[in-house]
Amino acid sequence: MAATKNTAKSTASTESVKQITYLAGALKAPRITEAAARLADQARDAGWTHEDYLAAVLEREVSARNASGAQLRIRAAGFGAVKTLEDFDFDAQPAARQQLGALASGGFLVEARNVVLLGPPGTGKTHLATALGVAAARQGHRVLFATATDWVTRLTDAHRAGRLPQELAKLRRYGLIIVDEVGYLPIEQDAANLFFQLVSSRYEHASLILTSNLPFSGWGGVFGDQAVAAAMIDRIVHHADVLTLKGASYRLRGRGIDSLPSIRTTTDQTES
Ligand code: ADP
Ligand code: MG
Repeated sequence: MAATKNTAKSTASTESVKQITYLAGALKAPRITEAAARLADQARDAGWTHEDYLAAVLEREVSARNASGAQLRIRAAGFGAVKTLEDFDFDAQPAARQQLGALASGGFLVEARNVVLLGPPGTGKTHLATALGVAAARQGHRVLFATATDWVTRLTDAHRAGRLPQELAKLRRYGLIIVDEVGYLPIEQDAANLFFQLVSSRYEHASLILTSNLPFSGWGGVFGDQAVAAAMIDRIVHHADVLTLKGASYRLRGRGIDSLPSIRTTTDQTES
């Protein structure tokens, strides 16, 4: 039916389609071939301008690229478990809802600001740090996640091999570095100095997210040196959002552990 309608146009289209296939391959944008063909009829039927059509075709390629790029970046980030803000129950942390919503848009990464999540175990620090990391990866940023202890090991290895500057330069190419669990294990003084160099090298250049079960006043004990801890906190907090999560551990919810007589009063127990 279509073949008899307009032979000249069909022939031209066939040549063009071949050329598009070749050109899309040369651009390493194979989805353009498929999108160009699929959208051509739609464009003709709906009377799109040439510009509308070109924009629609390119948009398909870009969003497909972004989606597969995001998956790669999320896998490469080294999250313990992938968690998102959609999975987070903000009724458990109502005070954090608004701030997290603003952070999820990723403006802090563009400004090389930091985020510090403080609070007792099980309040969602790792979950939220991961969720912001996943959002950053989706927005096109390269992300690396590790515990403070793992970062110290990595920096110590680089230092011993005489390539700390190269390692720090490499890490600066990541828009976001997440340091989970500052404070669970003490950090030796030499290692604390290496960690300080990581913080300094990113200062006003690229973002950090840190989580800790300790308030800043406890960091001196972790890093074994009040002066190093103070200098580090100064740089971290200069441009940072600090969120303090509160309450009981989410892990223990519904297990009756928060209603033990030693923790809750008898009047509290009547609630459940
Ligand atoms: P923290 O790092 O503060 O010790 P996590 O982020 O590891 O706590 O949270 C412990 C577990 O509980 C994780 O599986 C996490 O996904 C879950 N969790 C914590 N808070 C929430 C929440 N508000 N909504 C949904 N899941 C939560
Ligand atoms: Mg944690």
